[in-house]
Amino acid sequence: MFTVLTQPPADLDDTLSVWIPIRSGTVYTDPGGGLWRSPASPVSDGSAQRAFLGVLDGHGVWAVDLDPADGPALDEGDLEPVPLRKLYGRIPDEHWQIAGRAAQIVEFERTHRYCGRCGSPTRTNPSDRAKICDKCGHMAFPRLSPAMIVLVERGAEVLLAWGRQFPGRFYSALAGFVEPGESLEDAVVREVREEVGITVGNVRYFGSQPWPFPHSLMCGFNCDWKAGEIDPDPDEIVDADWYTADNLPPVPRGGMSISGWLIEDWLERMSAG
Ligand SMILES: [Zn+2]
Repeated sequence: MFTVLTQPPADLDDTLSVWIPIRSGTVYTDPGGGLWRSPASPVSDGSAQRAFLGVLDGHGVWAVDLDPADGPALDEGDLEPVPLRKLYGRIPDEHWQIAGRAAQIVEFERTHRYCGRCGSPTRTNPSDRAKICDKCGHMAFPRLSPAMIVLVERGAEVLLAWGRQFPGRFYSALAGFVEPGESLEDAVVREVREEVGITVGNVRYFGSQPWPFPHSLMCGFNCDWKAGEIDPDPDEIVDADWYTADNLPPVPRGGMSISGWLIEDWLERMSAG
């Protein structure tokens, strides 16, 4: 079990901490598989920034920032570098989520060493995950970008789209970032209208997922078609259409992303009738 903390508790058993060294989104792991566990940091270079993430099964968890590329070196030469995406499935899901948190926290620490308002050096807030500027009082928090992903349903059909950013022919639910001033539900309705030109309603929350590439929070929804014909935005969508369960294009199934969970859930409901 993982408990989120910003400071090590006084009674922490530090005999076998978990260390997550990260350089440009690549996590250095135990070559035997799993996160690296050791009594001491695998980086003795004092210039390496570290951040406490919490306690995993009684042991402290630390993120260590190895950026830039010519920055601090690992003392342990045999740690295996694995890009965060590829780490999925190789370690328990809870550990993968912690590694994603580590990537976001080291990015936050590295990009908030100076105040964005007055340029003075900041210090770490002892109680919250935040940086404080003592000169002007400005506080900065880790950047988190809410995004929505939605599966539009019409009777026994779902709308699936081949996004222009996908590397190959691959269909998925529609997704987009939430804009300032709108609710998640507003974003669902707007994005669907912008991307495929149809009107939707009955927006229902499905679940959410931290998505550390680099700092999104994906919020999943189902909704129903109300009106209009599909008219894809050519800047974003290569192709979009309605599909039934027995006639699906290449789609994510289950796996690491909420788009796969949405489609899996819909297929289960369809097969249950
Ligand atoms: Zn300041």
